[in-house]
Amino acid sequence: MQATCRQRLERVRSRLKEEKLTALIVFSRASVRYLTGFTGSAGILIVGRDGCAWLVTDGRYKLQAKEQTKGTGVKIVITRMSDRVIANILKRAGGHRVGFESRYCTVAFLEKIKGELKGTKIRLESVVGIVEDLRAVKDERELAHIRQAAQLADAAFEQALKVLKVGMTERELAWEIEAFLRTQGADSIAFPPIIVSGERTALPHGQPSDRKLQKGDLVTMDLGAMVKGYCSDLTRTVVIGRPNGEQQRIYRAVWEAQQKGIESLMSNQKGKKVDTVVREVLDKYGLKKLFIHGTGHGVGLEIHEAPSLGQRSKDILKPNMVVTVEPGVYVPNFGGVRIEDLVLVTDGKPEVLTHSLNPPKILSV
Ligand code: ZN
Ligand code: ZN
Repeated sequence: MQATCRQRLERVRSRLKEEKLTALIVFSRASVRYLTGFTGSAGILIVGRDGCAWLVTDGRYKLQAKEQTKGTGVKIVITRMSDRVIANILKRAGGHRVGFESRYCTVAFLEKIKGELKGTKIRLESVVGIVEDLRAVKDERELAHIRQAAQLADAAFEQALKVLKVGMTERELAWEIEAFLRTQGADSIAFPPIIVSGERTALPHGQPSDRKLQKGDLVTMDLGAMVKGYCSDLTRTVVIGRPNGEQQRIYRAVWEAQQKGIESLMSNQKGKKVDTVVREVLDKYGLKKLFIHGTGHGVGLEIHEAPSLGQRSKDILKPNMVVTVEPGVYVPNFGGVRIEDLVLVTDGKPEVLTHSLNPPKILSV
């Protein structure tokens, strides 16, 4: 791991050189973990040139930071005044053009650092995507963790099918899934399971409620495990009892859109194009307007990370990226269907990492 962190830090440094930046302040917790191994909740990393890096954290993490970053060459700085300390590090070693991860830093904190840098020649410049782009392409060890997280998600879905019954609430079903994941080997859940039923399936990210499952309901289950920091993401929609015609039709359209989307995942493919392929299938069924989110997202240390598969995406797929393909159709006052799998992009055909039942006709339970 430590050797890997060193390599990753070197990759960041060569990106900084390309961008003519002299240092980078990393605020994203997942990126700090990726580059140093440190898992604490408070830590800011400064990547300098010439092999230098500093992890600024507080007294709570003194021991943990030292242990987790052993062998990475990262210096640990313990302080309660991180703004001043960061400014001092930059003054000593930062050069003149310092990048900062603007997506993960508050305006208030940035202003504090700027205040400390007053009178110097150091300029802070907003940076988006340097570490995220590196994180998007996984190595074998990362893939092993993601595969394990995917396996656990599959097992949790199987468990959900076993316990799901009429009269139980969405919250109860969500808890069954969460408890299963936590006791069967996940470090944690990747996100609180999304369990919605009946008309509530029209809410793409509805929270589990006290609504009781009834005969004839659509039930959408969106769940994921976290293993060694890496996430999985899986969604299935089933029906309790016999599906009606409209439920069947919508399900079939979403299923077909998902299959076509997965088939289109290949190296050098545009993220936007995958989304277009999916939308075209739904359009054929007259359902395009009811697909109200993007087709998918990268998954790794964060449940949503680069690349993105949507109309606004500029990302290009590369081998060893892991993405979801998750079309959905949401009909207000009726219900909705979403189907989501986790897929590995390769040099050839994509490899679906989640293996839960995904039949062309809606699964009736
Ligand atoms: Zn999901
Ligand atoms: Zn997802």
